[in-house]
Amino acid sequence: MSNSQTLKWQSLSNDHHLAPFSDFKQLKAQGPRIITHGKGVYIWDSEGNKILDGMAGLWCVAIGYGRDELADAASKQMKELAFYNTFFMTAHPPVLELAKAIADLAPAHMNHVFFTGSGSEGNDTVLRMVRHYWALKGKKDKKVIIGRVNGYHGSTVAGASLGGMSGMHEQGDLPIPGIVHIAQPYWFGEGGDMTPEAFGIWAAEQLELKILEVGEDNVAAFIAEPIQGAGGVIIPPASYWPKIKEVLARYDILFVADEVICGFGRTGEWFGSDYYDLKPDLMTIAKGLTSGYIPMGGVIVSDKVVEVLNEGGDFNHGFTYSGHPVAAAVALENLRILREEEILEKVRAQTGPYLQQRLSELSDHPLVGEVRGVGMLGAIELVKDKQTRERFKDKGVGMICRGHCFNNGLIMRAVGDTMIISPPLVISKEEIDELVSKARLCLDLTLAELEANVA
Ligand SMILES: *Cc1c(COP(=O)(O)O)cnc(C)c1O
Repeated sequence: MSNSQTLKWQSLSNDHHLAPFSDFKQLKAQGPRIITHGKGVYIWDSEGNKILDGMAGLWCVAIGYGRDELADAASKQMKELAFYNTFFMTAHPPVLELAKAIADLAPAHMNHVFFTGSGSEGNDTVLRMVRHYWALKGKKDKKVIIGRVNGYHGSTVAGASLGGMSGMHEQGDLPIPGIVHIAQPYWFGEGGDMTPEAFGIWAAEQLELKILEVGEDNVAAFIAEPIQGAGGVIIPPASYWPKIKEVLARYDILFVADEVICGFGRTGEWFGSDYYDLKPDLMTIAKGLTSGYIPMGGVIVSDKVVEVLNEGGDFNHGFTYSGHPVAAAVALENLRILREEEILEKVRAQTGPYLQQRLSELSDHPLVGEVRGVGMLGAIELVKDKQTRERFKDKGVGMICRGHCFNNGLIMRAVGDTMIISPPLVISKEEIDELVSKARLCLDLTLAELEANVA
């Protein structure tokens, strides 16, 4: 089937490449699909197939593929100053201009940025920064960080520990000490007989119970994604964030919003914290910051925290590539495009509502138990019984559906039996129509395959 170029690349993969989040043996048996180029919301594989990328790469390609402006910004900066560090009392223009541009977009009380090379490194920074903050305030015991089951905060030791992915904790003896987890606000999967509203309150109350169990004097921070991404585009019931805010107001702990997915327009607002009116003390960023054109992450820090850190002497933390000039130049150009092309405004007023309306039409499908979404995020729950929300057991329905999607020119990701999408923010209404009709076709093919297997 495959052409000789594809086979050549696949053999290079077999012989030399260890791919992230992959079953190495299965990957060898099957061979990776080779993606060769992209334009707008589409990518092409080495067999010449054109595929609508419903996941924007990995949630990151906000402005779409193939924008010359970002390549030009990188090229210009590489020629000007390819690298210099931001350690030991030096800086360079792009990192300073980017810090200012981000501070202008962030909530009013957040005006400083610590740069990293990725979201995971951002959350490693969070862990060290919040503990350092409390130590400087004379409260060395305030060390414990509360995360959530099935949250995702990256794959470094701190990131995977702060996250609540059991498959990640099983490998490498995680979480590290000083990190605990509470239930996630996943009504469809775990809400049982409760209404979504009651379940949202229950899930938020778990934060208070955990603070009391650990002791307020031992808790440094609570970290959460405004909307869980990798966990399955889990949109909390409307009661959840207001109740969490009530709990946070009662206790002296820091709140960290992991904005790696929600940040830079995914919800139609600049940050998920704007969408839900949260007032975080720190926000982790990455992905959409550069539209994925080059790696970059960071932590946006509130004035309250900066004031304390300012009095603390050296912060003994940083990465060679913190604030990398080429990454900063690309990020600046990406933010310029997001602003000047009014991409968020379009998501908020036009394409976001249109995507949600079109996606919701899939609710009538026999396999679909729920469709939910916000802005340019969506999830489709695949179930055996629409009324009771009962799942298919051990059939891998999500992966079956994902396979049909890939073979029919659409990338949707499967998280268990939840199909998720997060297309480029620049997707047009016509492209949304294509996405939804392909999704319906693939749901039909999945159902047909399930029925054939039963017969
Ligand atoms: C992707 C992601 C991370 C990790 O970012 P990397 O750049 O992969 O290290 C952290 N938090 C959230 C919410 C993410 O989606």
